[in-house]
Amino acid sequence: MTQPHKRAIVIGGGITGLTAAYRLSTEAKKRKIPLELKILEAGNRVGGIIHTEHRDGFVIEHGPDAFISTKPWGKALCEELGIDEHFIGTNSKVRRSFVVRKNKLVPVPEGFYMMAPGSFLPFIKTPIFSLKGKLRILLDLFISAKENSDDESVADFVRRRLGIEAFERMAQPMIGGIYTSDAENLSLSATFPRFLEMEKEHGSIIRALLNQKKKASQTSKDTSGPRYSLFLSFRDGMQTLVDTLADKLSEFIQLNTQVETIRRNDDNSHWEIVLEKNTKLESDLLCIALPAPRTSQIIRNFSPTLAEKLNTIPYTSSVTINMAFRREDVTHPLNGMGFVVPIKEQLNLIGCSFSSIKFENRAPAGNVLLRAFIGENKIQNRNHEEVVSLVCKNVSDLLGIQSSPIFTVVSHHNKSMAQYLVGHQTNISDIQDQAKKIKGLTIAGNAYTGIGIPDCIYSGDQAAQSLLDSFTNS
Ligand SMILES: Cc1cc2nc3c(=O)[nH]c(=O)nc-3n(C[C@H](O)[C@H](O)[C@H](O)COP(=O)(O)OP(=O)(O)OC[C@H]3O[C@@H](n4cnc5c(N)ncnc54)[C@H](O)[C@@H]3O)c2cc1C
Repeated sequence: MTQPHKRAIVIGGGITGLTAAYRLSTEAKKRKIPLELKILEAGNRVGGIIHTEHRDGFVIEHGPDAFISTKPWGKALCEELGIDEHFIGTNSKVRRSFVVRKNKLVPVPEGFYMMAPGSFLPFIKTPIFSLKGKLRILLDLFISAKENSDDESVADFVRRRLGIEAFERMAQPMIGGIYTSDAENLSLSATFPRFLEMEKEHGSIIRALLNQKKKASQTSKDTSGPRYSLFLSFRDGMQTLVDTLADKLSEFIQLNTQVETIRRNDDNSHWEIVLEKNTKLESDLLCIALPAPRTSQIIRNFSPTLAEKLNTIPYTSSVTINMAFRREDVTHPLNGMGFVVPIKEQLNLIGCSFSSIKFENRAPAGNVLLRAFIGENKIQNRNHEEVVSLVCKNVSDLLGIQSSPIFTVVSHHNKSMAQYLVGHQTNISDIQDQAKKIKGLTIAGNAYTGIGIPDCIYSGDQAAQSLLDSFTNS
């Protein structure tokens, strides 16, 4: 039996909104719901933060350069879209990364994971920590697990278990590189719940990592290893994912359409979506797939309490700089994926990926592509051109580069990275409870249960499913 016709609007054409729209269209077909769908995107392209540019044979990522394959939702969507055949994994020959110490690149010891060693010999030999720092790290084997389950910051957790050096020299730069934020404020349970589990299950992070290593070597003896690399991208860049979704949804996408506010109509039967110049659209179902502060602005007249809650999730800005060089001008062997920079080193960047080493097909033969990240604290109230030239100088000094880059591509990501502060999960369940009470509306994006691409895909997917469920169950 076919259902009555419905209108659905998705606000925001980033990966979250595109996934929500895609799932609305496929699921509506499955459930035989005739759906009139629209995706409203403020910009002149879809994809949001995900954006690949091709230039003179280089594949330049303005935003993300890969996604993790251990969270299943990213690869599952790609398999469903039939683009898994374009997957590329990271270069298996150069697994290691570097950390800056006294203006030099030092390899992260083999087996070291974010904050703790999973192998003893390379850890003992590394010059990254002092002898005192190493002994303090090893105390993790004897410190008992925290008894209460109160959330704590990543910084407090690392210092409690492994000491100040483990935090300042490794955990802070590693985590800073992922979240472009201050580990002093980041919630451990919302960002790295695995470490909490390790503490609970094994009473020690080091013991948990050693155990994990033992299990992994057992599994690799028993099987031919995992099907995919830990991090995945596409031969032509992350844009492949966006372009594929955009192709499938092209008839529904409305670009250059900024939503100002939403409200219910007079008899409360549907949504009114108010655009610039006070034009309006109508819809029965609505998914807002925007950064939380933008969602807050849009719903503030309709639900001031939820809007206020959403505004408590801060977002930080960052800048990426892609730099192309001739290989012969770079003295460093580039025998790794890239490097991270502890705050203690007082340089101008968080880290730098050796993009054309990390992934194939990123630079034409004889050239290299590097990508530096700059955090909000270095760009706030500063002249951006000056920061960019300081970062290029830092990178050149560290890698022994004598010449100027062939070109640089600077990308600004204004307030695009959600910060999961201590207490985030309680805050989010409160937000989700409030949002659930609003019929015909879902919110999705990187503010809630994960900032990575697979998390955003999951969030968009769930938002679409629950919208259709609310409709079929009504
Ligand atoms: C520099 C950087 C590097 C990253 N690297 C990685 C990585 O390597 N791997 C990984 O997994 N994740 C990475 N992330 C995180 C991940 O890319 C993001 O969390 C994810 O892309 C967010 O997608 P989104 O659709 O939720 O939001 P967005 O991409 O921000 O999309 C929101 C969209 O909404 C539109 N919009 C805004 N306001 C309105 C309005 N009022 N009306 C209509 N449209 C509007 C915007 O124009 C935009 O297109 C990175 C993030 C950054 C900033």
